[in-house]
Amino acid sequence: MNTLDASIAYLKGVGPKKAELLNKELGIFTFSDLLQHYPHRYIDKTQFHKIRELHDQSGEVQLKGVLRRLTTIGEGRKKRLSGRLRDETGVLELVWFTGVHWLEKQLEVGKEYVIYGRINSFNGKLSMPHPEMEQVKPEQTTQKASTFAPVYPSTEKLNTKGLDAKGRRRIMKALFEKLKPQDLPENLPAYLIQKFRLLPRFDALKAIHFPKTQEELTAATNRLKFEELFFLQIRLLQIRRRRKDSIRGFHFGTVGDYFLQFYNEKLPFELTGAQKRVIKEIRRDLGSGVQMNRLLQGDVGSGKTIVGLMCMLIALDNGFQACLMAPTEILAQQHYQSIGKYVQGMGLQVGFLSGSVKGKKRKALLAALENGDIHILIGTHALIEEPVKFKNLGLSITDEQHRFGVAQRAKLWKKSSPYPPHILVMTATPIPRTLAMTLYGDLDVSVIDELPPGRKEIVTLHKTENHRLWLIGFIKKEIAKGRQVYVVYPLIEESETLDLKNLEEGYEALQREFPRPQYQMSIVHGRMKPANKDFEMQQFAEGKTQIMVATTVIEVGVNVPNASVMVIENTERFGLSQLHQLRGRVGRGAEQSYCILMSSFKLSKEGKERIATMVRTNNGFDIAEADLRLRGPGNIEGTQQSGIINFRLADLAKDGKILKTAREVAARILDDDPKLERPEHHPIQWYLEKHGKKLKGWSRIS
Ligand code: ADP
Ligand code: MG
Repeated sequence: MNTLDASIAYLKGVGPKKAELLNKELGIFTFSDLLQHYPHRYIDKTQFHKIRELHDQSGEVQLKGVLRRLTTIGEGRKKRLSGRLRDETGVLELVWFTGVHWLEKQLEVGKEYVIYGRINSFNGKLSMPHPEMEQVKPEQTTQKASTFAPVYPSTEKLNTKGLDAKGRRRIMKALFEKLKPQDLPENLPAYLIQKFRLLPRFDALKAIHFPKTQEELTAATNRLKFEELFFLQIRLLQIRRRRKDSIRGFHFGTVGDYFLQFYNEKLPFELTGAQKRVIKEIRRDLGSGVQMNRLLQGDVGSGKTIVGLMCMLIALDNGFQACLMAPTEILAQQHYQSIGKYVQGMGLQVGFLSGSVKGKKRKALLAALENGDIHILIGTHALIEEPVKFKNLGLSITDEQHRFGVAQRAKLWKKSSPYPPHILVMTATPIPRTLAMTLYGDLDVSVIDELPPGRKEIVTLHKTENHRLWLIGFIKKEIAKGRQVYVVYPLIEESETLDLKNLEEGYEALQREFPRPQYQMSIVHGRMKPANKDFEMQQFAEGKTQIMVATTVIEVGVNVPNASVMVIENTERFGLSQLHQLRGRVGRGAEQSYCILMSSFKLSKEGKERIATMVRTNNGFDIAEADLRLRGPGNIEGTQQSGIINFRLADLAKDGKILKTAREVAARILDDDPKLERPEHHPIQWYLEKHGKKLKGWSRIS
């Protein structure tokens, strides 16, 4: 048996009781588990602070002094322990709320301690709750090797059962006494280690637990982050290569009459360079004989719909059907209408299917679909339900992919034979490059990074309640120019009732300012019947109403080019990507458009930054990067289910550079040596085989 697989119970100082506790509390069973449980921070043991110099912002500090007085206060569950530490400059209050009994026995008044903890300030009085205490033994000289002491994520139970920071450190020391370099063989080729000056694996693992200097810690962290990201990329790229080798797809060899007729006669504008490039990329996929799995990213308004349509026409030219699936009824309807208009006079049958299509109509539609009378089917997720059968589905497009689950997409695969349909996923939620490389690392990605010409930058303003009058006046002016206005309220599930009340009150207030018959307003929210929602949307889209009061149901995709003002209420309650989506509802026509972010005067730091970001930039990718920075990768839409955030060390928000290098290196290695057969790549192959099965739950369209 490999040493690493040994149970921690065999480690000096652990024993069965502590082993069980570590199993239960932290899922640590083997030497290997223990090794991979990295410290979450380090105590800088090289510095001592002076008590007199502490202040409420001192944060975590190390002090040295004599413990004076130790008293318990209170009774039963409220019992706490209070002590004082004195150094040559002053006295600091120490306090413990748990483990009181045990601590009372451990700590000795009158002895010198090195203590570590976070400075707390209450009514101007400083104290340190739950300091880590280490008695300075007389035999220790003051020159004791000063280093960084690791601190591990822990639990209350562990802390009181002798597995606190100190206890954990002792165990880790015991572990490294047992481990030899050959227990942790190198998993990266020697030439990479040399090229990037990486620490060898054993040294890195040792140094991440017991770094001697800050430099060594940085080197160890970088090496292990690289390793983590490198192996992830190797796996993702292998999946992609394997799919390309094995999953055949329909061969769309020709671009025929539909495509050409549309291009020459129907296309109402010149395609942007980016649109042309993306269509070429997709055409290449469709003609390759391998099933396409492509993600199309493009900011709101970048013109993804027309790209999708032209790809569907290629499918039709090759005798296949195509479908387009949208996340909401409103959006699906809108696609249905605009695509119907685009292809008018081309002799194409475009069908619509959603939950609201029922009875005879549904039956007829399904029949027409199955016998091939319908060329293009547009709709909601009703498209992927069981009874929907195509004659020969060749291409499936989903719009605004973040609303669809992986499982839903997988159903599409079964809708055609002998091959799965080509799949194109369009998203207007730009994903930062680092995330795309991992979340969609096994997919091909196309980007439309150019807006159609003639668009004016949307002007974004931040206003507070005392500008309400100004806002009313501003809206009136815009309406007088013939423009239309959105006013959006937040709606989150937990406070739905309250939010609805907000919306309705807002609506009434607006009605007082914008009375009929001079002004007409629409209202749309999630509690309305779909038919009523559609009616209201339609009224607004046709310009019969000037103001649309709504919750975020209008967030995605709705297209009313004449609307030039987007007012967002309670802006601080929206996330960045949502705000960006909402703003994208205006600026679709030739007129100057505005986005007005209303918020309360008092804002959290993050709220302030979000609003500042919106005011600063209109670029969806910049905003996505800011979002990633502010909230971390775990909160970005689409990442939760994927498990991609379970890195031990790497942080996608911060380690973009390392990731990029890891990706490039992995790609180059697989290009040169696809099966990893060369001797220098044996370490990679060995490591993959050992840890190979762990890449599950991956977000894949497949
Ligand atoms: P999105 O990428 O957000 O889905 P749409 O496909 O809805 O964007 O396009 C937004 C608007 O831009 C539509 O009104 C569309 O007709 C228009 N549009 C798309 N491409 C071009 C182009 N190349 N030139 C001019 N207008 C375009
Ligand atoms: Mg769209």
